[in-house]
Amino acid sequence: MRIIDLEVYDVRFPTSRNWAGSDAMNKDPDYSLAYVVLRTDDPLGLAGHGFTFTIGRGNELCVAGILSYKSLVVGQQVQDLIHNMKDFTRSLTNDSQLRWLGPEKGVIHLSAAAIINAVWDLYAKIEKKPLWKLLTDMSPSELVSAIDFRYITDYLTPDEATELLQQQASTRSQRERELLATGYPAYTTSAGWYGYSDAQIQQLVRAGIAQGWTHFKVKVGGDIEEDVRRVALVRKEIGPDRRLMLDANQVWDVQEAISAIRRFKPFDPWWMEEPTSPDDVLGYQTIAGQVAPVALAGGEHCQNRIVFKELLQLHAIQFCQVDACRLAGVNEVLAVMLMAAKAKVPVCPHAGGVGLPEYVQHLAMFDFIGISASLENRTLEYVDHLHEHFVNPAVVTNGHYQVPEVPGYSADLVLRSLEQYQFPNGPVWAATADGRL
Ligand SMILES: [Mg+2]
Repeated sequence: MRIIDLEVYDVRFPTSRNWAGSDAMNKDPDYSLAYVVLRTDDPLGLAGHGFTFTIGRGNELCVAGILSYKSLVVGQQVQDLIHNMKDFTRSLTNDSQLRWLGPEKGVIHLSAAAIINAVWDLYAKIEKKPLWKLLTDMSPSELVSAIDFRYITDYLTPDEATELLQQQASTRSQRERELLATGYPAYTTSAGWYGYSDAQIQQLVRAGIAQGWTHFKVKVGGDIEEDVRRVALVRKEIGPDRRLMLDANQVWDVQEAISAIRRFKPFDPWWMEEPTSPDDVLGYQTIAGQVAPVALAGGEHCQNRIVFKELLQLHAIQFCQVDACRLAGVNEVLAVMLMAAKAKVPVCPHAGGVGLPEYVQHLAMFDFIGISASLENRTLEYVDHLHEHFVNPAVVTNGHYQVPEVPGYSADLVLRSLEQYQFPNGPVWAATADGRL
């Protein structure tokens, strides 16, 4: 089977109209996808679907980045790609000219992610398995051979990674059965968006409790008195036993973060997410040392496995929030999950975006089955909008992701949504003169 074409679409959902997804840093996101379809010469029309996630303006840059990689992908034999995933990834991330745009960070890395994720989707479809099951059925050495260990061997070598995977290999099927029976624990971010009124938050938290949610996340990072009031409101609504997480989306300097987090301590936050710049590894370490026992969470903007290595080496994060689209595909996520296992830091992937819940359910489930073997202090983010645009949407019941069963990486968009929401000429956007609502 050969890849005969790479199509890319700029798909944007006008979420800024009702503040869904808003936080202190990102006040008006339009959740967007740079969406890739890898066409093959398979007689049944098998195709790999993948995407990267942005929040609106600039999504066209990822589309352009993906097109820059097109000549490296079209014409390739699929079997060569899926059995040499490390080499294929490197052929993109270390292309001798494109590498200058990163290396391995920013727009060009987000763009690589869309393509590499689409290849994993195609691989899983060929094997007729959902992605988590494809990973579960791969041997430790097959998994390790898919990972690019360049720049991380001072913390984790391929041999150590193989050993970590081997330790859990004989009990994988037991955890697979457990997940099929109970699902994977989740938390909701949908009640606490920054732009929501008190009444809206109160109503959503109450509805969340009724639906069985036990963990709630609230956006902070604005006026501190206002933040303290909102956090107090949510703590009062959820009672002392449910868990409360706070997310500042990078707004504070290091000292500001320390002062602010101390103000939240009476409300017993389980974690404090993204207190400062995602690049400030030493800043994270300083904050973590000053605000304990409040734990720091971070990673949704962590640009690659190298920065994750530093965060984990310095014990600067206590929860690892990998992102399926910011890292270069499933294989770079595997590298981070393995380093987190070595550091004994729980992985709670980031899913605040369109399509991210569909993706990260597979990653978290494999982390449990094949790497961490634990659900302790693990919970997977869930946002409850835009799932209707996916052919196989993530399903959450009673606060738990249900195990996806359809072959692939759950990325396929409904064709009508792909047509309706294309920017700027799809009907949803074309209605306005400047392409913006
Ligand atoms: Mg966040």
